[in-house]
Amino acid sequence: MELQDLYREVILDHNKHPRNFGRLDPADAVANGHNPLCGDKLTVTLRLANDAIQDVKFEGNGCAISVASASMMTEAIKGKDRASVNQLFDKVHALLTQQDAPSTDLGKLAALSGVREFPARVKCASLCWHTLNAALATADAASAPAVSTE
Ligand code: ZN
Repeated sequence: MELQDLYREVILDHNKHPRNFGRLDPADAVANGHNPLCGDKLTVTLRLANDAIQDVKFEGNGCAISVASASMMTEAIKGKDRASVNQLFDKVHALLTQQDAPSTDLGKLAALSGVREFPARVKCASLCWHTLNAALATADAASAPAVSTE
């Protein structure tokens, strides 16, 4: 099987059977993402334990790439600490935008490398990651110590 066919299979599988689909309630953080270019809409909910993603789910409607990317992202980040998640995001972003980016250590997420042949779809694949970052930012804001002028 050609590598591209394998990648196609992975994306089709995650689109058809999204992992971690749904909504955590209660959740420590929630964020909505929208990619108007394609019409993809995602909601990411997560629970944090210390500095790690204890649990994460997503729901929404979108094209096959946006759903598969979100499904693979939830699998990849669950249990990871924030620093590892940031590193993973940087690697995925490079994979989506740079022709010669390495796909080592990415596991199934390497399947997204095919997306860089279609620049219009990069936003579909990265929507879930931007939504995740927005959710983490709201969690940080909620846990920040109250500002005092005393
Ligand atoms: Zn899309």
